[in-house]
Amino acid sequence: MGQPDFSTCPYCFRFVDPTFFGDNAYPYPQDFGPRIVCVPCKAHVGCHYRNLLRPLGAVAKAEDREKRKQVHSLIDPLWEWLMRYKKKRKGKARDQVYQELSALFGREAHASWETGEELDRLLGCALELSNHYRQRRGFQA
Ligand SMILES: [Zn+2]
Repeated sequence: MGQPDFSTCPYCFRFVDPTFFGDNAYPYPQDFGPRIVCVPCKAHVGCHYRNLLRPLGAVAKAEDREKRKQVHSLIDPLWEWLMRYKKKRKGKARDQVYQELSALFGREAHASWETGEELDRLLGCALELSNHYRQRRGFQA
């Protein structure tokens, strides 16, 4: 499945805009690279490392940005554990974990793609996967 369309805000459906450090709409006092922003919603998201105007996902409000971090705090240790203790390369380890997460989620799963209720559901899947690694595979954080 390809990347969904992230050209509009998932909360208000307005078109989102790229901003750069120094712009009025830029959401941070420091330069964290270009950010795609919905100003009225105070929602934003970063861009791909290699393609500075390609959003990593849907713009997200603070609450959802926090939940995305929670998903990563559950998922990232799993692929790091696969690298360290199962001797998998980073790319393979990440792919495995995201495939497992996607299987639980029912479609391609990325924290930065989701907001609202779907993000809540993804967070639940990440928790389930983390528990599975702990209980069945010997994962310890
Ligand atoms: Zn909006």
